[in-house]
Amino acid sequence: MGLFPKGIKLLRSLNNTTFNLIELPLPERVILPLKQYIGEPAKVAVSVGDKVKVGQLIGTAARDNALPLHATISGKVVEIKEHLDHKGSTVPSIIIEGDGTDTWIESPVEEKDMDSLRPSDILKRIHGAGLVAKGLLPIPLGKDLLPLDQPKTHLYLKGTKVVKKIDSLLINALDIEPSLGVNRYLAGIHNEELASGISALKVITGAQRILFVVDKKSPPYPQLESIVLADEEESTTLISIDGERFPVGLSVPLLKTVLGREVPLPYGHPRDVGAAIYDIDTVVSIGRSVHKQIPQVESLITVGGGALSKGGIVKVRIGTQIGMLIESLGGLKEDPAKIILGGPMMGMAQYDLTIPITKDIPGLFVLIRDEIQVTGRYRECINCGLCVRVCPVNLVPGMLSMYCARDCLDMAEREGLFRCIECGCCDYVCPSRRPMVHLFRHAKHQLMEAA
Ligand code: SF4
Ligand code: SF4
Repeated sequence: MGLFPKGIKLLRSLNNTTFNLIELPLPERVILPLKQYIGEPAKVAVSVGDKVKVGQLIGTAARDNALPLHATISGKVVEIKEHLDHKGSTVPSIIIEGDGTDTWIESPVEEKDMDSLRPSDILKRIHGAGLVAKGLLPIPLGKDLLPLDQPKTHLYLKGTKVVKKIDSLLINALDIEPSLGVNRYLAGIHNEELASGISALKVITGAQRILFVVDKKSPPYPQLESIVLADEEESTTLISIDGERFPVGLSVPLLKTVLGREVPLPYGHPRDVGAAIYDIDTVVSIGRSVHKQIPQVESLITVGGGALSKGGIVKVRIGTQIGMLIESLGGLKEDPAKIILGGPMMGMAQYDLTIPITKDIPGLFVLIRDEIQVTGRYRECINCGLCVRVCPVNLVPGMLSMYCARDCLDMAEREGLFRCIECGCCDYVCPSRRPMVHLFRHAKHQLMEAA
């Protein structure tokens, strides 16, 4: 197993003993953006005034780079209009006022014979459930899984595509940041959908070897151990690594640490180096969509921060607004200094409490003054090299930040701007308090707009 010497050591704000599942009351209204991923928006399939049930299709998707959208509460469609999302974009959205009855559409029959499903049937169900591949660039999960059993072919050797078979399926029980906990929570409880999700992924990817990756400080996970023991072919293994070494939970550093393989950045994919990697949350969602054919109407997110009355793992309906979520958790006990959607390291600060929770959001943190670093005006780079020492993808962040701050975007691109995985380690250690991720995101956005 390779080592992951870079990155930074972060302590958890949540450890496994504090995991408690909080089920929220039904939201009175939900705001459902027709696009909750990178791709094309779904096409509206309802009109204002229509009554809808939970799980009902309200947005259709004909192509792989769009996803169908489902009602997440029962009630009436009251508006279809542009609404702000957590990335600051306005997205056409369907607004449903709830009737409080939580009436579901009729459930399809559960799949009894999973082995009879073909890869294309499995992909159709994953797409039909509206699942998103979470991460830096959230895309429709079905699109991330295509093409079947083949690499994405970003690797070229002397002009020829390197076609590598997927040999390993990594199932990640770590979270992308140590403060997030959904994967560790799901690894620790019994999920009947986990085994179905693994079977589905084995069929789609063709991987013969399964590796569960867990944090060495986690307590034993009996459900993962029993899957390993039940594998008569002995092709399933459990691997423990230092999960507090941020950002080891992201797929690029995780692959390097576990298999010693380097994903070709900036546009590479784990498949390029013969691996598929999905977190437990995604595998469970795949299992549910394939086995029970239930569309995604809710999400598990980590909620924390000193301003909240309580936190933990929260089951929330997609489309619930941040303000309503905070109220349902008992409101604020202190004035918040910063509200973040995502994790404290990689998430995005929010300024509007009407922003809805979407499928790509892993957490909500409502932080008080003592929990944030107020940078004020940043200073010039003093060439201390600390950022270089921690960058997990071997960039020179200080130099990149200077190019971005001075609008030398072509230079920044040449020096690897798009290889940056926006982990924020360089920000964290910089004595000059340079807001590097902010500069990188802004520069990437400008370059993509200009392309
Ligand atoms: S340059 Fe990007 S990848 Fe490197 S430490 Fe900074 S944010 Fe992380
Ligand atoms: S850590 Fe900050 S001051 Fe040090 S080299 Fe990097 S950008 Fe410059």
